[in-house]
Amino acid sequence: MDLYKLENVSKAYGNFYALKNINLRIKKGEFVVVLGPSGSGKSTLLNLLFGITKPTNGNIWFNDKNIVTENKEFLRKMRLNDIGFINQDYNLIPTLNVFENIELGDNKKNSLKKEELINLLGLKKHLKKYPYQLSGGEKALVCILRALIKNPQVLIGDEITKPLDVNNSRHVLNILKKINQTYHTSIIIVTHDKFIASLASRVIYLKNGLINTN
Ligand code: ADP
Ligand code: MG
Repeated sequence: MDLYKLENVSKAYGNFYALKNINLRIKKGEFVVVLGPSGSGKSTLLNLLFGITKPTNGNIWFNDKNIVTENKEFLRKMRLNDIGFINQDYNLIPTLNVFENIELGDNKKNSLKKEELINLLGLKKHLKKYPYQLSGGEKALVCILRALIKNPQVLIGDEITKPLDVNNSRHVLNILKKINQTYHTSIIIVTHDKFIASLASRVIYLKNGLINTN
């Protein structure tokens, strides 16, 4: 079954087309890496999947709903309950400790077992620390856990390993793989790092707003 289906999707900013006639299907449970140079349309694509912007043309189905025609309230609930979104800034609240930051992501509806997740991500010993006391890799994991705690159908990440060195990137990627395998959470991450793409089960190449299939 498809998690996402994009049909002839284009996105223009003024008269510049950042995405051109994209056709794409992403199945439930897939771990997808979107690879492409800076300016190729990666973030634009993720913003469309997150439902925070609408395409200029085309249709985007999330499960069986065409989110292009859904109203703001539907999209707000979809973002709140079904999608965990992470970007490279991590956006941890500096005045809250790790546990409190994680709690912020809890929508009190379908939480996964917190203990189990904290252990899976190796964050138990850091729960009382504040963000300034964490390494970059640990911050990334806290941010991932905050997005995951509501048990979303999909985790979407925009260049989340950009601030990290190779070893930390690999560690975060391996954790995402474990999450994908353990909870069947679909994962869609964007990077311009070829090394990261080599760890994924499916790679989509974007160039000049077009999907390159070879
Ligand atoms: P990537 O994430 O692959 O670096 P983006 O999707 O951010 O690429 O941007 C693709 C192109 O669209 C770039 O040329 C960028 O300048 C342009 N762009 C992105 N967002 C906007 C916007 N809100 N307004 C105008 N142009 C934009
Ligand atoms: Mg980007």
